[in-house]
Amino acid sequence: MNAEEYVESVIQKIEEKNPGEKEFHQAVREVLESVTPLLKEKPEYMKAKILERITEPERVVMFRVAWEDDNGEVHVNRGYRVQFNSALGPYKGGLRFHPSVYLGLVKFLGFEQIFKNSLTGLPLGAGKGGSDFDPKGKSDSEVRRFCQAFMTELYRHIGPDTDVPAGDIGVGAREIGYLFGQYKRIVNRFEGALTGKAYEWGGSLIRPEATGYGVTYFLEEMLKTRGEGVERKVVAISGAGNVAQYAAQKVSQLGGIVVTLSDSDGTVYDPEGIKGEKWEYVMELKNVRRGRIKEYAEEYGVQYYPGKMPWEIAEKLEKIDIAMPCATQNEIKEQDAKKMIDNGLKAVVEGANMPSVPGAVRLFLENSVLFGPAKAANAGGVAVSGLEMSQNSMRLQWTAEEVDERLKQIMKRIHEQAWNAAKEYGSPGNLVVGANIAGFKRVADAMLDQGLY
Ligand code: NDP
Repeated sequence: MNAEEYVESVIQKIEEKNPGEKEFHQAVREVLESVTPLLKEKPEYMKAKILERITEPERVVMFRVAWEDDNGEVHVNRGYRVQFNSALGPYKGGLRFHPSVYLGLVKFLGFEQIFKNSLTGLPLGAGKGGSDFDPKGKSDSEVRRFCQAFMTELYRHIGPDTDVPAGDIGVGAREIGYLFGQYKRIVNRFEGALTGKAYEWGGSLIRPEATGYGVTYFLEEMLKTRGEGVERKVVAISGAGNVAQYAAQKVSQLGGIVVTLSDSDGTVYDPEGIKGEKWEYVMELKNVRRGRIKEYAEEYGVQYYPGKMPWEIAEKLEKIDIAMPCATQNEIKEQDAKKMIDNGLKAVVEGANMPSVPGAVRLFLENSVLFGPAKAANAGGVAVSGLEMSQNSMRLQWTAEEVDERLKQIMKRIHEQAWNAAKEYGSPGNLVVGANIAGFKRVADAMLDQGLY
């Protein structure tokens, strides 16, 4: 069997063995197909069945989370922690609280995390977790009770040298606080078992900003390869949460014009740019009042497109140079990609995980649109989480400048690694292939070194 046939047979077995997990299948196919040239060079990976092993989580924990709402009604949710790969360090990856969470979604995120964490160059294994709990519309007390119930099971599976969760969709500073408080109460130790903590009690400066800033630094590196910069570029961003907020801030600081933000109800289009006081408004709206992005349109008298993502209204935007999807998986469809390309799109950089469907990625690459895949472009979040772990171990905290500088260097290095691997393995400029190969190689070699497990 040649390498192509071997990869296809592995993918087929995975699809049969994990029925219904469509996002997981999608993520596996992309990675496995792109590492085929590497397998030809290193047949020892096939012999040691690295593909079969790397696609099987080391451990999956699924658990009941029972909690009471403000009216005394009992609710039951399902909790997950997928501990995917510990070849490079303790399991590391976020927790997602969203009604769409199920095993296949957590496995896709955990699988992607393996290669992302590897690309950072830090000693980080990979995991992901979450629950189908929906924090939207819940009171602070309800969220607190849910987080406490969730941690009452999760605590026994995590720890600073075992598994260190962080935030993701629906899990921000508030949730990390409640989760950490419950962890500490149970184990009776103040230790870095979670990242994304507030600075005052062990968090890292720049962690809230890290993913959004990192995506923008990665974009800068991409644009540099064509002798361009962010300045004066018209940038459409989706989402209005953690990643979108800080991507918007950094793009504006670098002179770009952020014209859209969205939430699950719709998109606002502000051709003047969402910056300064308008950006502060979004921060207050989303992080304090927990309101809807529609209110931005009402406040500033701009267009609001209910039920639409920015990509679906691409033809209505005067211009779109850069797309930064920062909301969720598979949000950019093939037809949206086409519309954006027709409207002059120059680059796509993924803040969210796997936000572009495979057909959209193909169109971007075929049309010479610079494309920064999530596992490279959004690795800044987990990288600074890694730095938070280092600071916790040393029991000290670095300055914002120090962390930001390290973040910049890490993003630059990730781009360089992906760029070089793409060139070396016959797909120059294709950062999807480059990131997959570079990320995969470090983990696969570590797995070979560590014996059969
Ligand atoms: P938040 O919960 O802070 O924000 C998510 C935003 O996306 C919200 O505006 C939300 O709208 C919107 N959104 C979520 N789901 C959907 C959906 N199905 N359809 C339309 N809009 C949706 O999450 P983050 O900003 O932390 O995460 C965003 C993305 O970035 C995710 O893909 C995550 O995996 C990825 N990521 C996050 C990192 C981090 O450090 N936080 C690190 C690396 C990647 P609404 O409020 O209406 O639901």
